[in-house]
Amino acid sequence: MSNKSDKPDWAPKDAGNEFATRVIHGVSGGHDGMRGPVGTEAQANKAIPRRRRLSVDDYVGGVLAGDRNALGQAITLVESNAQAHMEMAQEVLRRVIPHSGRSIRIGITGVPGAGKSTFIEALGLYLCERGHRVAVLAVDPSSKVTGGSILGDKTRMELLSRDLRAFIRPSPSSGTLGGVTRKSRETILVCEAAGFDVILVETVGVGQSETTVRSMVDFFLLVMIAGAGDELQGIKKGIMELADALLVNKADGDNKPRAKAAKLEYNRALHYLAPATDGWQTRAYSCSSLTGEGIPEIWSIVEAFREKTVESGVLEKRRRAQTLDWVYSMVEEHLRASFFQHAGVERIRAEIEHDVTWGRMPPTVAVQHLIAEFEGNTGS
Ligand code: GDP
Repeated sequence: MSNKSDKPDWAPKDAGNEFATRVIHGVSGGHDGMRGPVGTEAQANKAIPRRRRLSVDDYVGGVLAGDRNALGQAITLVESNAQAHMEMAQEVLRRVIPHSGRSIRIGITGVPGAGKSTFIEALGLYLCERGHRVAVLAVDPSSKVTGGSILGDKTRMELLSRDLRAFIRPSPSSGTLGGVTRKSRETILVCEAAGFDVILVETVGVGQSETTVRSMVDFFLLVMIAGAGDELQGIKKGIMELADALLVNKADGDNKPRAKAAKLEYNRALHYLAPATDGWQTRAYSCSSLTGEGIPEIWSIVEAFREKTVESGVLEKRRRAQTLDWVYSMVEEHLRASFFQHAGVERIRAEIEHDVTWGRMPPTVAVQHLIAEFEGNTGS
C-alpha cells in the first residue's frame, strides 16, 4: 500500500489522457464524501496523510479521477471564505472547468413537506440503477438564519446516501444568498468534472432561492401536493412560470384521485402562462415518491427536454447566458460589499440617513453624496 511517489493514489495515472481521468473508480465513502473511505480504497488512501496539506495538483487529480474523498475536500475548499483558500480554489476551478458541463442540471423546488427529499431519493436511486452518477446539492439561503440546512439531516435520503454512485452535499451554510450561489455553482462544476452526469439541486420554496436555482440549472421542477390550495402552498404564478415541469407528488393510496385532478387543474392553468424555456411546453405530471410510480415517466420528460433543447441550441444559449449572469451578479455583489464597507461611506452614512428620513435632504442628493464619497476615495 505504500506509495513511493509523492503523488496520492487517486492522482491520475495517465495525466495526458483526459478520458482516463474521467473514470470514476469504485470508491467507498461516507454520506457526503467527507468521511474517511472504507474498505480497499481506504487502504489505498492511507497513503495520503490525513493532515497533509493538499496541493492544487492533488485536488485537481483527485477530482478528475472521480475520488469522492478528494471531491469532498475540493468542495470544502471552494466553500471556504479564507482568502488563501479562495485563491487556491480558483486555480483548482480553472483547471477542472474544461472537464465540466457534461451533465444535466436539474433544480427541484417546492414547499417543505411536498416530498422533495423523498422524490430526490427515489429518482436518484432509479438513475443510479441505470448507470448514472448523481450528485445532490442544496441551496438553502434560510440556513444562515436557522443555522441548519435542508440536507443537513443525514437521516434524509438514507438509501441514496449509501449508494456509491451518488454524492450528497448539504447547502453551504455561511454567507449571503450571493455567496451561497457562487459556492453552489462552483460545486456543480467540480461535481461534473468528477464525472457526475446528473446534478440535482434542491431548494426550499421560499421566494428568492427559486430564481437563484433557476439561474444555475437546465431544467427546473416544481414539486407540489394535491389538496392544498395554491395560497397554502405559497406557490405564486411567478414560480410556476420558472418551471419546466410541475410534479404533483404523493399520487398514491386515497390521495391518487386528488393528485390526478390537481394535475389536470395545473395543466389548465399552465395553458395561460408563458413557458420557462423557448420551444418547451411546461406540463404537470404526477408521481408517488413512495411507490416509485411515475418516476420513470418524469425522467423521460427530462430526457426529452434535453434532446429538444440540445437540438434547438436553447440549452447552450441558456448556459452561456447563465454564465454571463453569474459574472455580473458577482460584480454586483463585489461592488455592493465595497460600498458598504467603505470607511468614508460608513462615516457619513448615519448623518445622511438622518437627513433623508427627516425630509431635510432629497434621496437623489443623498445618493450623490454617498457615491461621491465612495468614488472619491476609491480613485475611480
Ligand atoms: P420535503 O420537505 O419537501 O423534502 O419533503 P419530504 O421528502 O421530507 O417528505 C415529507 C413527508 O411526505 C414525509 O413524511 C414523506 O414520507 C412523505 N412523502 C413524500 N413523498 C411521498 C409520496 O409520494 N407519497 C406519500 N404518501 N408520502 C410521501
